[in-house]
Amino acid sequence: MARIKKIGVFTSGGDAPGMNACIRAVVRTAIHDGLEVVGIRQGYQGMLESNFWDMSARDVGNIIHIGGTILKTARCLEFKTPEGTKKAYDNLRSYGIDALVAIGGDGTANGASRLSLTHGIPVMCIPGTIDNDLYGSDFTLGFDTATNTVIEAIDKIRDTAASHNRLFFIEVMGRDSGCIALRAGIAGGSEAVLLPERDTAIDELIEKLSSHANNHKSSSIVIVAEGDKNGGAYHVAERVKEKFDFYDSKVTILGHLQRGGSPSSFDRVLASRLGFAAVRALLNGKDRQMVGLRGNAIVLTPLEEALHFSHFKLEDDLLEMINVLSI
Ligand code: ADP
Repeated sequence: MARIKKIGVFTSGGDAPGMNACIRAVVRTAIHDGLEVVGIRQGYQGMLESNFWDMSARDVGNIIHIGGTILKTARCLEFKTPEGTKKAYDNLRSYGIDALVAIGGDGTANGASRLSLTHGIPVMCIPGTIDNDLYGSDFTLGFDTATNTVIEAIDKIRDTAASHNRLFFIEVMGRDSGCIALRAGIAGGSEAVLLPERDTAIDELIEKLSSHANNHKSSSIVIVAEGDKNGGAYHVAERVKEKFDFYDSKVTILGHLQRGGSPSSFDRVLASRLGFAAVRALLNGKDRQMVGLRGNAIVLTPLEEALHFSHFKLEDDLLEMINVLSI
């Protein structure tokens, strides 16, 4: 295999706090190890438009604490076509880019895998998504920060909920993954959590809230992941309200504020470790791997495996614990 001289780094799909810290780690590790680094703006779209940026160590100064991504991100349908993938590859090669570090979710990893399989360019994927829904890493970049953001909001809502005997339904991000909802539910001391991965009968929820009320709880907080099968926080609130008028019910949709903000120390360290490891793995001749954290070790998982296996990783003990701790 020819020695790698110039690597490209890009962020793609949904943005997540910690992506900048990861870009910084990739750029500085590569330069430290004698490589040239090119930032590719706007993910696969940027490959199609040769939107390339020759990066220096100084270009990634003062970004470790900033949310979002200085390389921007985009969704790009054209890249998914065989012609689009080839055009992206041709542009990369004519710029001398001979390996890639992709930071993003499963769509991004699928795209990187295709680029590598069809055209032979080595790729390393770093799981960057607030949803924590990728196989191959216990935690994805941005998940910890997003959960902390949700908890901050819950804490504030709790103050007003407790003052008014209110029942709050708080909708959090997670179309297919209940990871944010579950962790935020525990850390925010909520009474119940509704997740996309589990069916929750509204009757059971009402029964639970009634028993809490009978147990002298003056307010309750229910976390609803946006992908919950009951149709989201407004629908759940409506149906609960019909049969249960003890509380004054309110709904808060947290929305996109969950994506932003300064990354937590956990995400900054994770981003640095994953970015560093991705460059070293490329230099060691590895290809088509997901770089992740398992236990407290950085582990490579072949992309085929990472993309094939289910990302379902809700811990059953946490679910049971919410029922116990919310009595
Ligand atoms: P995420 O990476 O957060 O899951 P997307 O699913 O939107 O976000 O994927 C990001 C981009 O990756 C897409 O816009 C597309 O360009 C590319 N992509 C997604 N899935 C595939 C695929 N199966 N084959 C090739 N490229 C893909």
